[in-house]
This record gives sequence, C-alpha cells and structure tokens, in this order.
Amino acid sequence: MRIYADHAATTPLSKTALEAMLPYLEGGYGNPSSLHSEGQRAAEALEEARGRIARRLGCTPREITFTSGGSEADNQAIRSAAWLGARKNKRHIISTAFEHHAVLHTLDALKEEGFSVTLLDVGENGRVTPEQVEAAIRPDTCLVSVMYANNEIGTIQPIREIGAVCRAHQVLFHTDAVQAVGHLPIQVEEDNIDLLSLSAHKFHGPKGVGALYARRGVALRSLICGGGQERGKRAGTENIPGIVGMAAALDESCERMEQEREHLTALRDQLIAGLERIPHSVLNGDRTHRLPGNVHFCFEGIEGESLLLMLDDRGIAASSGSACTSGSLDPSHVLLALGRPHEIAHGSLRLTLDVENTQEEVEEILQAVTEVVAALRGMSPVWRDLENGKRDFVIQ
Ligand SMILES: *Cc1c(COP(=O)(O)O)cnc(C)c1O
Repeated sequence: MRIYADHAATTPLSKTALEAMLPYLEGGYGNPSSLHSEGQRAAEALEEARGRIARRLGCTPREITFTSGGSEADNQAIRSAAWLGARKNKRHIISTAFEHHAVLHTLDALKEEGFSVTLLDVGENGRVTPEQVEAAIRPDTCLVSVMYANNEIGTIQPIREIGAVCRAHQVLFHTDAVQAVGHLPIQVEEDNIDLLSLSAHKFHGPKGVGALYARRGVALRSLICGGGQERGKRAGTENIPGIVGMAAALDESCERMEQEREHLTALRDQLIAGLERIPHSVLNGDRTHRLPGNVHFCFEGIEGESLLLMLDDRGIAASSGSACTSGSLDPSHVLLALGRPHEIAHGSLRLTLDVENTQEEVEEILQAVTEVVAALRGMSPVWRDLENGKRDFVIQ
C-alpha cells in the first residue's frame, strides 16, 4: 500500500465530485451558450455551480469567474488590477518574496512593462505583517497581492488585517488562496478581499479548473480574446464537468472542514514532534499559523532528491517543496526567502496530509524518514566532515 503525502501538489478526486461530473461527461454535453434545451441544461448546471461556490465564499454569483485553474486566476487578477492602476497612473505593486510562481512571474512580466514591484520580506517564520504592508504602500500603489497560505511551508498570513490596511489606503487586495480554499474558513467580505484565486484540484476537485473572485466594481480584463463567455471576462466554452465537480468538491470540503482540521492538526503535530527528534533537523515556517496538514523540514547533510527517491521506494509519495520547481536544481525560493542557506535549503522535505491519511501512516512515515535520513547521512562525505568538526553545523 502506498502512502500519499503530497496533497499540496494535488489531491485525489473525491467520489462525490466524480459522481457530480459523470452526467456532464456522458450525456450532458450541451454548450451553455446554445439556445436549445441541451445548451440550457448545461447553462443551468453552470449557474448552479457558480451559486454554490459563491455561497461558500460569501459573495454573489456575479462575482465569480471560472478559469482553467489557480495559475490563470492569479494572472488575471494581477493583470486586471495592473490595468486599472495604469489608468490612474499608479504602477506600483506590493507582494511577498514567497508567492507562487504564477504570481511572481506575472509580476516579472509587469516589471518589463514599466511597473515597479516591492516584494516584502517574509521573516524567519514565513509570515508578513500588516504593518509591513502599510509601510510599503505609496501614493502610486495599485495592488497588494499576498497569498493566503504558502504552498511549500504552509504558513497562513494575517489576511483580514492586511485587507483592512489595503481598504484604508484604497489599494486593491488580491490573495492567492489556492492552498486555503476548502481547508480554512474564508469569507471574502469579512476578510476584506477584493480578488481571490482558487483551484479545484487542491481540494479534491478535478484538475484544469479554478475560479477568480472579483469584488463588485473591480473590473476584470479578459486574458483571452474570443467569445463573450463569463460576461466577457473569460472567453472560451466553459469546462462544465470540471466546474460542476469543483462545486461538489468545495461543498464537501467545507462541510467536513472543522472535523478534518482537528484530525489533521493532530497528525501534523505528531509528525512534527517525531521529525524534530532527528538530530540537526529544523521545522520550516510558523508552528501554529500553518495549514493543518503541512509539515516541512530541512535536514542537515542531506540531498532532498535522494531522500524523496528513497521514500518513494518505500511507498511514500512526498515532495521537497513545490511541485513546480522540483526537477530543477535551484533551491526553493521560499526557503531562501526564510533565510535558509543554500546547502540547508537543498535538504528539504514537505509532507502534506489530508483526510484520507491515518495515524498508522504517520507512524510509518516517521519511521521511514528517520531511517532514510540516517542511511543517507551514513553515505555522505559532507556529513562525515560535520561529525569530525571539519565543518560547522548550520542546524544545531
Ligand atoms: C497549485 C497552486 C497554484 C496553481 O494552481 P493550478 O490550478 O495548478 O494552476 C497557484 N498558487 C498556489 C498557492 C498553488 O498551490
């Protein structure tokens, strides 16, 4: 039996979501823009899903636009706010150093188009403060974009307070909430959010579908030229099975959220306590302000890749950080933002749990990681130098 502990990369499709999707994969193939009955049935399913998602976020259906996922929603949110800002000659954007690449690379592109970007420091515990945001706001700031919860180290940001600062200064506030939606209670009004990105496959929905919330009055610009779907905000025939599956998965995740949170927090803290017993290991990110299923460590004298491959051999699917950067040899930008030196950032391990993980699995993971770390250190010349005092330990 394999143990899947990489839910921050993606989650398995829930049975509820699959069953909701099947009728639209089998018989209900109508195009929601068509006037005939087949089309109208699809249009009804589309609007029903929009209503359900809006209710869960505490907004109106008109404020929800469907996208192809979290990356597209991030791109569209930031580009729309930038367009709106440029019209008033405001070309400064504030974000953080540990955002997802969908945000960071969009900001890089905007810099080439004449925008200036301030990336806030996230500190050693991986959190930004509302005070930092306030201090960075300038008269020409058009947008603040801070992720709700980090996809690598799981830290949760003080979103409501940051949103309040943005409101007070009349600056738009976007949050990449891809890791948070379906896992943490979110209400866009109370949380002072103007733009929010979400993605179905991070809460047991299908891949390739997501949504962007844009508060009434915040005009979205379409990234894709074409038909007038989604009230002209996103051209292209809507992914009806995906959207229906996303709504079903979100309802299910929200309904079991409280119960799941307790279960996961207990498993997470057990895993953290066990991994801390490994010598020269360190937890990354804040201990309490973190996603209920996220465990992220660095181990001194270890290559993250070798650790992952050996865990995979033992039937455990884990990650060194973000799925988007694995395969590249650069250390994670998130760990570097925390101030971890390169040689430590290379020895990272992310374990992300979800509802289907059990206590027995956590015990098995603990045993496997402990043994694999010891085995790898036994083969490592770097580790020998550390033990012989020829090099200094970075992690005490
Ligand atoms: C997964 C993820 C994304 C990208 O979402 P896709 O639907 O895979 O495009 C963006 N931001 C965060 C924080 C994520 O975890």
